[in-house]
Amino acid sequence: MAFDWLLSTDRSTRLRLLRQLMGLGSYLMFLAPGLLAVESGWTAFGYRGLLVLCGAAVLVNLLFFVVIRSGVSRRFRDPSLLVPQILVAQALALVTIHYMASEARSVMLMLFVAMFFFGLFALSTREFLRLAAVAIGSYIGLMVFEFRDRPLDTPAFRLELLRLVALVMMTVWLSFIGGYFASLRTKLAERKDALKDALVRVKELSERDELTGAHNRRHLLQALEQEEARAERFKTPFCVAIIDLDHFKRFNDGYGHHVGDEILKGFCDFVRQRARELDVIARPDSDYAFGRYGGEEFLLVLPHTGIEGAAQCLQRIRACVATHAFETGAGPLTVTFSAGIAQHCPGEPVAGLLGRADGALYAAKSGGRNRVVAV
Ligand code: GH3
Ligand code: MG
Ligand code: MG
Repeated sequence: MAFDWLLSTDRSTRLRLLRQLMGLGSYLMFLAPGLLAVESGWTAFGYRGLLVLCGAAVLVNLLFFVVIRSGVSRRFRDPSLLVPQILVAQALALVTIHYMASEARSVMLMLFVAMFFFGLFALSTREFLRLAAVAIGSYIGLMVFEFRDRPLDTPAFRLELLRLVALVMMTVWLSFIGGYFASLRTKLAERKDALKDALVRVKELSERDELTGAHNRRHLLQALEQEEARAERFKTPFCVAIIDLDHFKRFNDGYGHHVGDEILKGFCDFVRQRARELDVIARPDSDYAFGRYGGEEFLLVLPHTGIEGAAQCLQRIRACVATHAFETGAGPLTVTFSAGIAQHCPGEPVAGLLGRADGALYAAKSGGRNRVVAV
């Protein structure tokens, strides 16, 4: 990005500094009415005084810039130091007003509006009201100081009173409007976060099988496509296994559909747990995919694995499953599966690979079931 050396590469620091430069711009903008006031003789200070005031504003801004740029301000609750900056601006405005003739003072009240605008979207109503109280309090202080030995029953005092009322009205009104904007911003940010969470949840749901909680066909096919792309790019082997429960229809017919469901769920949990314990899959770099391909069929994607390794792995899972009793509503039941494995060939599309694994599964079934066939 441009001006990295000046504005830093950190996004939030950059935003704070840009706002800081905007503040400096606003100070310099008031040079025009200031010059006009000096020129018209409405100030107790001359051009030199104006220069000193502007110099002080630039210096204070520079100081804030350095504190923000160096990262020191990150130690504070508000790293953009908004409230201290507005307070300094208020002090400078008050000094300027003090040295101004009555004719020019009302215009200078606009300085307070400009200051409060910097707090929009960031400060709460309470913080704004505190700033308003400081502005009003210090203006009253100025009036007390200036009229300490002057009569109060004069048009000059009444005019000052009018300005005070205008200041109260403006700052209090801006406090409520500003606070309202800030609450809107917070609400928007909260909604954005909630939407983000909901999207993550929707994605998660769209990739999960409702019955077993395992990955569904959509996710498995995506994982396969990804694996295929990776294998083509890095020339690494990978295998896919289609697992089909043997004579599953008999469970449904013999014990009812809900018992069949329990076995499907138990089988998924068991394989997911065992898969983690098995060496081939449990390697730290392994991002194997396992899930329900459909009905009583499951798919296992084995990255970085050749056909022998995959066959070994499936044999171990098969042996574990065959000797495991699944808890069901009809008591403990055992189930076996047959699996067909295929290793990806360079240039082979996913559909071709799945077709070969399916062929191997068919061979396993015709070979007597409860077995693994690799091609
Ligand atoms: P094979 O050894 O040849 O695979 O025999 P099989 O009985 O497992 O095969 P078949 O394809 O004839 O039957 C599959 C059965 O799986 C039929 C169907 O009722 C059952 N099934 C599919 N999805 C579900 C499910 O979500 N829940 C239950 N309980 N059963 C299901
Ligand atoms: Mg089947
Ligand atoms: Mg079956």
